[in-house]
Amino acid sequence: MSGGRLPRILVTFGTRPEAIKMFPVVAALHETGQFDVKVVVTAQHRELLDGVLAMAGLVPDVDLDLMQPNQSLDALSARLIARFGAVLDDLSPDRVLVHGDTLTTMMASLACYFRRIPVGHVEAGLRSGDIYSPWPEEVNRKVTGVIADLHFAPTDIAAAALRAENVDENSIHVTGNTVIDALLFAREKVASAPHLAPAIAPLRQRFAGRRIIAVTAHRRENFGAGMQNVASALQTLAGRDDVAIIYPLHPNPNVAGVMRPALTGHANIALTDPLDYLDFVAMMEACDLVLTDSGGIQEEAPALGKPVLVMRDTTERPEGVAAGTARLVGSNASVIVAETVRLLEDAAAYETMARAHNPYGDGTAGRQIAAILAPSKAQP
Ligand code: UDP
Repeated sequence: MSGGRLPRILVTFGTRPEAIKMFPVVAALHETGQFDVKVVVTAQHRELLDGVLAMAGLVPDVDLDLMQPNQSLDALSARLIARFGAVLDDLSPDRVLVHGDTLTTMMASLACYFRRIPVGHVEAGLRSGDIYSPWPEEVNRKVTGVIADLHFAPTDIAAAALRAENVDENSIHVTGNTVIDALLFAREKVASAPHLAPAIAPLRQRFAGRRIIAVTAHRRENFGAGMQNVASALQTLAGRDDVAIIYPLHPNPNVAGVMRPALTGHANIALTDPLDYLDFVAMMEACDLVLTDSGGIQEEAPALGKPVLVMRDTTERPEGVAAGTARLVGSNASVIVAETVRLLEDAAAYETMARAHNPYGDGTAGRQIAAILAPSKAQP
């Protein structure tokens, strides 16, 4: 901090899930009145990010607009570090906040390190223990953890993972996950103004009387055979009269290229474009269970009382599995079908998962983070 001005905190992110999880932090920092807050988006994803910015009413101070078609990880990394470094030189923040595990997270942290600017890591301490699953996220977050001097861990398990890597105890703060802040905000918005989630009401009507399965699948580790298996499992499940599937398709050609031909034309499958967050939250509320390989959705669905079957072999979010809200089913078609059918047919198994405790926080994570950062410790 210099010249009596407020400490300048630069918050950066580049993808949809990061925007969802960082807008509550930005709002909470503003609420304290103790910071000069700057928001820098790298736009590693473009359209998906813009939808969340609009919903949250967030106008970035800098938009690097870095997304390019078919971007390779190394070319994107190079662009990120060079462009973000230039922004640091221009804005001279006192601290930078990054989120989670993307290339934006790692490259922004490195650019800060090269300039000795302290980094706070939101959603710190997630570990699968396998650097190739999820790939490249596991290494993105480990590198960020080495650089950060403040680690906002969402859960005790995440905090323990940091301690196991000898991270200074005083730099670790367990806050819950900001995704719950975002979810509660979105849920309230949709409840008070249902027209803000226009995609879901017609599907609810179309699928009335059926058990709704909400599906997302987009992880790199599942590209190829994994996606084919997921498609084949969904075809089998869609053969049941009591089931309907809503699947917002990720635009990546490795996903849409497999799913569109395999799943188009089924009466009880709705393939949609990616949903705006408010529609997505409305879909999770409308469904009976969730099949996903996503990270964030493993945290959101339990907060809405929806069982989650995770189409991965490992998860860096073991809390849901431990709490009984999530189950790892991998990407083998027959296992996906068997586990889904079990939830559809075994009411006791369903209730056990639906009623399990949400381990990811109470929706005050953003305010807790702001209070930890605030010079006069604003109360959450
Ligand atoms: N999401 C959304 N619309 C969609 C799919 C997902 O708003 O069509 C939201 C979802 O609620 C969650 C986040 O995006 O908060 C998860 O993003 P994604 O699955 O792409 O990434 P991950 O969490 O695996 O990094």
